Amino acid sequence: MAKIKILPRNEALKIAAGEVIERPSHVVKELVENSLDAGSTSISVYIQKAGKELIRIVDNGSGMTGEDAKMCFLPHATSKISCMDELEHVTSYGFRGEALASVSAVSNVVLITKPKEAPVDALGVSITYSQDCVQQEIAVACPCGTDIQVRDLFFNTPVRKKFLKQDDTEWNAIQNIVYAFCFSHSHVHFKLYHDDRLMLNAPPAATCKDRALQVWEHNIGQQLIPLCKHEGTIHINGYISHHNFWRYGRQNIYFFVNNRWVKNNELSKAIMKGYTNVLPPDRFPAAVIFISIDSQLLDINVHPKKEEVRFAKPLVVQTELVGCIKKTLEERTNTVIGEKNVEQNSALTLPQNSFEPYVPQPYKMLQPDMIKLENTRFMPVFDRGIMPEKTVEKPMVMPIVTQDSDTQEFKIIGQLFNTYIVLERGDSVVFIDQHAAHERILYERYTKKFEIQHGTTLLFPESFTLSQIAVKGLMTCKDFFERQGILFDVFADDQIVIRAAPPMLKGTPLKELIEQAADFIIEHEQMERSLFDKKINEHIHAQIACKSAVKAGDVLTMVQMHQLITDLGKTPNRFICVHGRPTTWSIPKSDVEKKFKRT
Ligand code: ADP
Ligand code: MG
Repeated sequence: MAKIKILPRNEALKIAAGEVIERPSHVVKELVENSLDAGSTSISVYIQKAGKELIRIVDNGSGMTGEDAKMCFLPHATSKISCMDELEHVTSYGFRGEALASVSAVSNVVLITKPKEAPVDALGVSITYSQDCVQQEIAVACPCGTDIQVRDLFFNTPVRKKFLKQDDTEWNAIQNIVYAFCFSHSHVHFKLYHDDRLMLNAPPAATCKDRALQVWEHNIGQQLIPLCKHEGTIHINGYISHHNFWRYGRQNIYFFVNNRWVKNNELSKAIMKGYTNVLPPDRFPAAVIFISIDSQLLDINVHPKKEEVRFAKPLVVQTELVGCIKKTLEERTNTVIGEKNVEQNSALTLPQNSFEPYVPQPYKMLQPDMIKLENTRFMPVFDRGIMPEKTVEKPMVMPIVTQDSDTQEFKIIGQLFNTYIVLERGDSVVFIDQHAAHERILYERYTKKFEIQHGTTLLFPESFTLSQIAVKGLMTCKDFFERQGILFDVFADDQIVIRAAPPMLKGTPLKELIEQAADFIIEHEQMERSLFDKKINEHIHAQIACKSAVKAGDVLTMVQMHQLITDLGKTPNRFICVHGRPTTWSIPKSDVEKKFKRT
């Protein structure tokens, strides 16, 4: 007996629908795309119970005639292409004619529509469509455009219904898709309602940043800096958040390729690579990034919902994006902490309000062979590397060069709580955490210098007792320490004697450093050797930087603060310290004014 059967049409449709529609947000996406394709400038989205009860989209687009309104539910019904060859040139969102067929296969739909060209007093049509056929067709008074209501999603596909997530999750997905449309179509007025409450009202916005201010919490929108690159075949623009802002998730990252919202893992990784050493681990920026690329170099049909894209040359796109983000962040920070300030300005005068008269300080050169490392507990700030590297004859006001190269000054206001350096720069107050900033400066300096570092014999070798395990661990890495210029010997299984250390360790409590290094070695012993070497390298450098940096509580003079800021300006990865804390924080003047209700 034959086993093969042909599925009834409505069952086949339900199965096909699963490809396009898995959750309420997919319905929202398809319907809003149709509204956009119909040239709408105003789109309102009404949601009940996270879309499980009702999804209704009202637009002012082209509308449909009564005949089209019935046709549009049929599989492969589309006004956008008539043959496969046209696919290549299609610019609209929909084109396969499967959205309305799919949506109506798994829900009850009411479509009210009237063509744009119809006279004002003409009637439109209301079509009730379910179970794969028109249930009711009546003439109704309605505005031009389309009002489509999708009720009881998945009422006839219980398995799919069961897989729907909690209301919060589904609602979030709907919000995301509507936000994405807001970004990609800033000229359209979007409204989003949930359970009769207006959740978003976004009238046409002049720029993507204005859109962000409408869509996101105000404080996120304010943290955005423009991103722009127009070279070669890839064009990138949009906005990214600066180094002082982060989120614990990726919810504020949106990518658009040729103005279509896409998910692409490689692009996500590229953006995080662009923020390497800018954000602490597991923190994410806000970003709205538009990539334009020749559509020949792109496949958007990888995914039935067209949510994913495949690039012909993914590496090129990623590299461009990483470079563009890094450059933008660099430029931005140089406007906060001037990199070229010293060279740019030789004839400045002392401001009236500096706290202390400027006294040039001679630089005490480190004499490696005279260094004595025994007195390591207390070192005056100057000896920890903050002193100018040459005699500085700088005043307290420093101009800095901004992105658009107009000169702005910044002014050291002073030291706050003996912990933060406070600057006034342009329209911002900038706080610098003196320890975090100095730690980063030293870390980068050490990382560069350690390779060529030679130990200097200590006048008074330092000896101390450690556990036997610790000593054993240290012995396994003896050659590593030697390469760093740290020479030690072991006595009686638990005694360490440090005989030589590099000059830059002057001021570092050596016992603490070695003890912590031993702990680290024991903990990571099992690690693969090359990775271990890398880790221990990073760890030791970070430790040394931390231990030798100025501390919170150290009093700094104006000259020292100046030097620290100048050094920070020249330091790579200056946005965060080696432990992932921010080094700088700037507050716009407008925020201060708002607090005082001046604006
Ligand atoms: P596709 O968008 O791929 O053409 P759909 O099933 O989404 O397929 O829609 C079928 C057709 O219905 C569209 O091609 C369009 O002509 C018409 N249509 C759907 N939604 C609207 C709308 N909001 N305004 C005007 N026409 C619409
Ligand atoms: Mg469509």
